[in-house]
Amino acid sequence: MEVKKFGVIGAGQMGAGIVQVAAASGLDVLMSDIKDEFTAKGLATITTNLDRSVQKERITEEERGVILSRITTTTDLRDMAGVDYVVEAAVERQDLKFQLFKDLDSICPANVILGTNTSSIPIGRIAAQTGRPEKVIGFHFMNPVPVMELVEVIRGLVTDDETFRLTWDLCKKFGKTPAEAGDYPGFIANRILMPMINEAIFCVYQSVGKPEDIDTVMRLGMNHPMGPLALADLIGLDTCLAILETLNDGFKDSKYRPCPLLRKYVEAGWLGRKTGKGFYQY
Ligand code: NAD
Repeated sequence: MEVKKFGVIGAGQMGAGIVQVAAASGLDVLMSDIKDEFTAKGLATITTNLDRSVQKERITEEERGVILSRITTTTDLRDMAGVDYVVEAAVERQDLKFQLFKDLDSICPANVILGTNTSSIPIGRIAAQTGRPEKVIGFHFMNPVPVMELVEVIRGLVTDDETFRLTWDLCKKFGKTPAEAGDYPGFIANRILMPMINEAIFCVYQSVGKPEDIDTVMRLGMNHPMGPLALADLIGLDTCLAILETLNDGFKDSKYRPCPLLRKYVEAGWLGRKTGKGFYQY
């Protein structure tokens, strides 16, 4: 099976990034979200990124135009009936993803692969919502998608070889390096990253250090390109909390309990960069 038309659900920071790399690789891409203003925002982000690439002479003005011409948008999920491969990148909520996969299963032809960019929810759990669990796979990009090289690929219990191979090949077509991870909450990336971010938040909560000092320690002391709190603000504090909840529920091990301060910030609407306030002001 050849993938020519690619569908992406969700036009937020991850969805827009996935749309950009897929279109840049030569695929026609349909980007969907629940409101026109969200697809417009996603498209504006992609346009800004491509403008920057033209300025830096990474692509030509003509290539910019060609990439943008490959992207169409919709707010009607039923339009996904016309694509060869779908990646879901809506918010990290299990109930919402379950409903989306039930809907996609009834909309998309039976041979269409349904990938999910979930950060933490086991793939088998999402696959079980569909009548095609062998065609469901974890396709986990890193943020920001156009910049980060890694993609985690996660097979559910019954994901078939063709689905895995096609997804692996798509990663390479997008210029990414895939790594395979097992189907447990948080896979590899967030199983390791989130406890570190959570511990950094506990350090703020218990006044062990100010955010700037904690991030400085991790940047200059551990050679991390970004401190954990700046990274949490980039990921989105709502997404960090959702991932920690999935780890905590999935393993029933208190080492994954989300820090109360993280919950407090999310409840206050301090979600990091996307709302202009998190551990830092933007
Ligand atoms: P985001 O909040 O920036 O964007 C989510 C988008 O999904 C929003 O535009 C929202 O309107 C849309 N949406 C909500 N319900 C929808 C529906 N029913 N149909 C279509 N669109 C819908 O979030 P994000 O950071 O882009 O995260 C998206 C997914 O990617 C999550 O599963 C997240 O865990 C995962 N992820 C995030 C990161 C990160 O660093 N933020 C990294 C890897 C994976």
